[in-house]
Amino acid sequence: MLTQISPHVYILPFDEERDRPNLGYIHGKNYSMLIDAGNSPAHLQKMLQEIEEAGLPAPKIALITHWHWDHTFAMHVFDGLTIAHKNTNDILDTLTRWEWTEEAMAERLRTGEECEFCDTHIKVEYDDITQIKVVQADIEFEDTISFNLGNVTVEVAPITNPHSDDGVVAYVKEDRILFAGDADTGDFYKLSGGYDPKRFHHYISEVDKIGYETYIHGHLDPMTRAETAALRRKITEEEL
Ligand SMILES: [Zn+2]
Repeated sequence: MLTQISPHVYILPFDEERDRPNLGYIHGKNYSMLIDAGNSPAHLQKMLQEIEEAGLPAPKIALITHWHWDHTFAMHVFDGLTIAHKNTNDILDTLTRWEWTEEAMAERLRTGEECEFCDTHIKVEYDDITQIKVVQADIEFEDTISFNLGNVTVEVAPITNPHSDDGVVAYVKEDRILFAGDADTGDFYKLSGGYDPKRFHHYISEVDKIGYETYIHGHLDPMTRAETAALRRKITEEEL
């Protein structure tokens, strides 16, 4: 079910079993946008169906928070334009050359190009892995970018974070909502889910300069500012 978070913002909540992240929808007077494309055509289809059933206009653009499969593998079936940071698009370029066979997936696991958690969940989401297709975003940006959706503004900025080598946060200014991708989570590719302390501390000091009231992580329920502080205390105590 699409859940309304604020006057302009909705999410399709995450699904842990299929590793489907929260997908965001920002409803503007002139046009609407998605935050992340989904982990499969079926995931994106479900989001678009919920948007239609809620009587909301179809999104014209989809902003990608980071390159991980669960946020990007539906990009190729999105009807509008996809937008990503240059760092994200550079990594996606490599993924466009990956083959999707049992053998190729096993080989990537062996070399460490793919992580176990992702390999497992890709096979849960896809009955037929040969259907997987990765594309780059239609539009890429460096540094920051803003979107004026009519009566609502989305400010997007890259922040070095402990989760992936790319990663942007998207701030819905009028509603004081921040979409953060999975930035608070550890790195499953290089550190088996562990944290680089430097990147973690850099991230939390930078992100907290933004005046958000509600924080939307890809795989957690929306949090208040106080709840993000509690989460980061927990990470500091348990992971660093
Ligand atoms: Zn991720």
